[in-house]
Amino acid sequence: MDFKVTTRRADSVLIIDLAGKFTAGEALTSLRETIRDEIAKGHNKILLNLKDLSYVDSSGLGELIMALGTVEQMICAACGATVFKDDEGNWDACPQCEGKERKPWGQLKLSNPGRQVTDLLQFAKLYTVFDVHESEQQALARFRSR
Ligand SMILES: [Zn+2]
Repeated sequence: MDFKVTTRRADSVLIIDLAGKFTAGEALTSLRETIRDEIAKGHNKILLNLKDLSYVDSSGLGELIMALGTVEQMICAACGATVFKDDEGNWDACPQCEGKERKPWGQLKLSNPGRQVTDLLQFAKLYTVFDVHESEQQALARFRSR
């Protein structure tokens, strides 16, 4: 089965259902564009439901990491401007207001990873980088608790 991406809403959370094989090529582009479009609409709580995802390769994994970095990029807590790290990896003060408090712009969670995806995340030591939940309901509850 080819890759398919569909979106739906559950209250304030945008759920993106991924199905099929998430491998190099069009699949990566279609998820990236979907996330970009939803972010542009202001959706900052995004759940990637992996229930029907049959296979992910290393480029698919790279795309998931990129999605996480995009949604959870750090912004100034005071004015919302994007903040950056300096050459030593320390956070610079906000370029707009000099504020030093930061927060992630949004939240991205994963739910229902199958065996292959779970193994891949664990093998790459990425299981704890993502906020992974066994079920959609658990993930939605976590969004509500913050
Ligand atoms: Zn600021």
